Amino acid sequence: MKHRTIIEPFRIKSVEPIGLSTEEERAEHLINAHYNPFLLHSRDVIIDLMTDSGTSAMSAHQWAGMMEGDEAYAGSRSWERMEQEVRDLTGMPHILPAHQGRAAERIIYGHLGRPGKVFISNTHFDTTRANIEFSGAMAIDIPIAEGKDTALQHPFKGNMDVAALDQLLKEHKGHVGAVILTVTNNSGGGQPVSLANAEGVASICRKHDVLFLLDCCRIAENSWFVKHREPGMEGSTYRQIAQRMFALADGAVMSAKKDALVNMGGFLALRDEVLADACTNLLIITEGFTTYGGLSGRDMEAIAIGLREVFDPHYLDYRIKSTTYLGRKLHELGVPLMRPIGGHAVYIDAKKLYAHIPPHQYPGQALVCELYRLGGIRSVEIGSVMFGKYVADGSLIPSAMELVRLAIPRRVYTQSHIEYVAEAFEEVLRQRDRVRGYRIVKEPKFLRHFTAHFEPIV
Ligand SMILES: *Cc1c(COP(=O)(O)O)cnc(C)c1O
Repeated sequence: MKHRTIIEPFRIKSVEPIGLSTEEERAEHLINAHYNPFLLHSRDVIIDLMTDSGTSAMSAHQWAGMMEGDEAYAGSRSWERMEQEVRDLTGMPHILPAHQGRAAERIIYGHLGRPGKVFISNTHFDTTRANIEFSGAMAIDIPIAEGKDTALQHPFKGNMDVAALDQLLKEHKGHVGAVILTVTNNSGGGQPVSLANAEGVASICRKHDVLFLLDCCRIAENSWFVKHREPGMEGSTYRQIAQRMFALADGAVMSAKKDALVNMGGFLALRDEVLADACTNLLIITEGFTTYGGLSGRDMEAIAIGLREVFDPHYLDYRIKSTTYLGRKLHELGVPLMRPIGGHAVYIDAKKLYAHIPPHQYPGQALVCELYRLGGIRSVEIGSVMFGKYVADGSLIPSAMELVRLAIPRRVYTQSHIEYVAEAFEEVLRQRDRVRGYRIVKEPKFLRHFTAHFEPIV
């Protein structure tokens, strides 16, 4: 039978209750959280789409593996399983465990970066950029031009601009720390990178003799797009596609909280022994011994299993199609979106949705608050609250875009949860003209979106 419904390719063995609430209660919770969803209690959230990081549901097989975790300080059996799995996937000989992605980033970029060095990426994820800049080095983003237009359709909006890369490598000759391809491109909307683009980047890096690294948190999701959108790739398996991409790189950094389907973990994979030895020193000083690096044996067991499960074609099909399903529903309702829909999230264009709210009154924050008040749905503003910059006279330079991200946790919500989210948007649209902007009444110096307090403008 050919079916229309995307059924979840799993059934539920263990449930976690969701606390339901009324709109009046949520209006109260919003006041108590100073209109900042980061300050809400998770128990007061109905559908939590704040992030897909570390929020995956593990399989029965992973939970069973946790019980088998070998917690030995050195030479843990669970480490051997994880190392074997990562080696097999990446084809890289040196694997270093880390407790999450940014710990692996601190090790490699802490070693490669220093004042005067330059790193180049399709788009540096914010922790990647922070670790590079913390070392004193500079981070340059060169996504393709199509990637910057929210409405434009392109199959691989996550691609790197290879002509710009060639130019930059000439300009910064002798000062390049590494070239980093983020797959999928998280900050650029979860958009995929083609294998052809990765090949282009790799050959330019070889020509200039610079290190080529993959930020591979969502490489399984990326492989789905390659198989279905890139000519000639339909005959390969998702895992083979990922392996071909790894084969092009000199190293990889992974936050296992994404496509390894676990709640905590990460790793660094490298080809070069000298580089691996230098990183191993930092690993032992800051994360832990080489056979656990900040992870419990049970975590490593779950990662080894998750890295295999994530390439299951039924899982990946469900994963990408259910994200697209939400995007398509919202698009049909008339909600302005970033398109095409990426792998792990749907991005709403709040500047278009609330055209009557100017950027310095934070239309994205207004939507985030509306979604919570009307539906108990938690999302994240990615706009002028997160990226706005004050200038000397105290005025705010807004961010280029005012987006709200709905990130979908893996294997957590069912189709009816997604239908509910779409219903909440119907109400958001009905009440759109009534919505007002916000002002910030208290904020820290850095990363203000996490802790700022807001007030509605009446
Ligand atoms: C999440 C993420 C990281 C950082 O990983 P953490 O596990 O959150 O420290 C790095 N790069 C990308 C693309 C990510 O999505």
